[in-house]
Amino acid sequence: MLDALAVYGEEVAGCTRCPLAATRTQVVFGSGDPHAELMFVGEAPGFHEDKNGVPFVGQAGKLLETLLNGIGLSRADVYIANVLKCRPPGNRDPQPEEIEACESHLFHQIELIRPTLVATLGNFATKLLSGKPTGITRVHGIPQQVMLGGNEVVLYPLYHPAAALYTRSMLSVLEEDFRRIPELLGLTTVVPEPAELEVEPELQPEAERSHEPAVQLGLF
Ligand code: URA
Repeated sequence: MLDALAVYGEEVAGCTRCPLAATRTQVVFGSGDPHAELMFVGEAPGFHEDKNGVPFVGQAGKLLETLLNGIGLSRADVYIANVLKCRPPGNRDPQPEEIEACESHLFHQIELIRPTLVATLGNFATKLLSGKPTGITRVHGIPQQVMLGGNEVVLYPLYHPAAALYTRSMLSVLEEDFRRIPELLGLTTVVPEPAELEVEPELQPEAERSHEPAVQLGLF
């Protein structure tokens, strides 16, 4: 039997609330444990996510997985979703009208999953779920108590992994912020010693090849 989240996912698969419905391959609803304590919210599906129907399967996703493994978790232990469920053409920034049309899908997901900790990845998710305009550079790593989906949750803003792939110093900050997650979840898991994060070689070339300033990505 499908759980309530899967039923809702089937409903959202046919969403036509905004023009992105016309250009997407498919809706990328979210993936992971439907009862996860920890939920991640990114920005929007990119090329690979649009093709696969799963969030964070590209390079940023590989980094997210590596960071999760570093704190003794895997993708299956958490739930991963995005602010937008459909890919903006050319991976441009989400538009305010698109966020407005899509946000109730995310709020309903949070209501059904009932996570205790919601880690927002980058500016768009952080601003939407905190309800404040303060950017990620100022609020990353600072847990906030918020009401989401009718429940009190701890919101934990983090740099977007894609931004960390562009800027080495941001990767260290993201790693450091990530290491506090077990404590915020109330886990007693021993977090491995801060080790140099091995970014897989194939993650590096694109990040280093691009001369586009990360700030233009709107990720932080
Ligand atoms: N992939 C996603 O699913 N979301 C992002 O925000 C970036 C990459």
